Amino acid sequence: MKFYPEKCKIEDKRMQPFIDPDEIWDYIKNTKADPEYVRSIIAKSLNKERLTLKETAALINADTPELIEEIKEGARQLKEKVYGNRIVLFAPLYIGNKCSNNCSYCGFRSTNTDAIRKTLDDQEIIREVEALEDNGHKRLILVYGEHRDYSAEYIAHTVKLTYKVKKGPGEIRRVNINAAPFDIDGFRTIKDAGIGTYQVFQETYHEDTYKKYHLGGKKADYNWRVTSLDRAQEAGIDDVGIGALFGLYDWRFEVMALVRHTNHFEAIYNVGPHTISFPRIKDAAGLNLDPKYEVSDEEFTRLIAILRLAVPYTGLILTARETPAVRDEVISFGVSQIDGGTKLELGSYSDSLNEEQDLNKEQFHIADSRSLNEVIDELLQKNFLPSFCTACYRKGRTGEHFMEFSVPGFIKRFCTPNAILTLAEYLMDYAQDDTKDKGWQNIENELKGLEDGGYDTKDLRERIEKVKQGERDLYY
Ligand code: SAM
Ligand code: SF4
Repeated sequence: MKFYPEKCKIEDKRMQPFIDPDEIWDYIKNTKADPEYVRSIIAKSLNKERLTLKETAALINADTPELIEEIKEGARQLKEKVYGNRIVLFAPLYIGNKCSNNCSYCGFRSTNTDAIRKTLDDQEIIREVEALEDNGHKRLILVYGEHRDYSAEYIAHTVKLTYKVKKGPGEIRRVNINAAPFDIDGFRTIKDAGIGTYQVFQETYHEDTYKKYHLGGKKADYNWRVTSLDRAQEAGIDDVGIGALFGLYDWRFEVMALVRHTNHFEAIYNVGPHTISFPRIKDAAGLNLDPKYEVSDEEFTRLIAILRLAVPYTGLILTARETPAVRDEVISFGVSQIDGGTKLELGSYSDSLNEEQDLNKEQFHIADSRSLNEVIDELLQKNFLPSFCTACYRKGRTGEHFMEFSVPGFIKRFCTPNAILTLAEYLMDYAQDDTKDKGWQNIENELKGLEDGGYDTKDLRERIEKVKQGERDLYY
């Protein structure tokens, strides 16, 4: 499929900034949210078409309770139509919190002298990965501060080390990265270690606000940050994750800018972002924030539904920064990945005696501290299909969400069977007894659903039996 990016005020060029704040505000201020227009936009998205900036602005301006509910309902329908029941699970693993930047919202900032600085050594990384494997994880995102100790070579080393750790039936099959951006050579070094997605969040796309919150270090350079993932693409990393930190500036501007960033990738690299993240600011040591832009739960759930409709092919990631209640609502709008059993303090996965959250040791507080088994159990109760699938990336099908979306039957042929096989492994190796019962029941329901839709499940049923007999890592 070819993209047809819309014409924007700043012409998209490789590795050149692309955000024009006046253009974005112009759309927000001057686009009317006429109910018929809003409904036609929802219908366009349900027809699997990407929305323009103007259309996204209309959804943002649709603020009556009825229209908001119609937008949320549209997002729910799109999720059901395109993505099915599965939710991919992952865990973040903080490798080091040394940082030479001064982002005033972050507990790791260089000026926070109370922060206890630590970088996991190789043995500690191995212990942490083993503890995560013991819980059943297969997908990790490694997280680092920005510091000369965390060079591209060092990050590549930690990625390779993580892949090598195998405890019992456990192994990590996809390592994603959230770290400082590099130059093209640096990105190439990290790509060669076999990473999945590289995430760099812009935090705020509004340059003046960006300058207010980024007070020192390399990250203070707005242009270097906003072109980060262009350099990743130039280095051959085609699964890139964008994001904005909600609470720094007006959420409406950030949503528009995330769509504008998507336009930029489509225009230059002919592929949109692999994932979009929308972290909301959480309490951190010494956090001193302008409350003007605080995003309420109501606005937050709305903006996720709008993003789902605006960029229907992209994976949406929600993290344990959010409460279980918020997580539960937005999962039905098409969030495709969540973390489970998350701990942010360095070394805490393998240190079971330490359950307290301590702001001097972690980047910020999380709001969902459920274990992975608890998260899975609750997903199963709500008829979701928890998945640890890593098949696309290992089969070279990068840009997987795009394919899921654009190739007819892709989800039924690949995603659902792979989700079932990875859930079956989890049930055999790690699940608690009552979770096991729910899990096998959900698998049977999903198989019936595939059969009712005319799909032959003979081979899949045989593979499930093989998993029960002890075979692992079977995928399509
Ligand atoms: N140091 C790298 C960077 O800044 O890009 C990567 C790691 S940083 C720990 C990951 C993300 O955490 C940041 O991009 C930011 O969006 C988010 N973050 C920082 N402080 C936060 C806070 N107080 N609440 C929620 N998220 C926060
Ligand atoms: Fe450092 Fe990243 Fe925190 Fe900024 S957000 S202080 S770069 S760890």
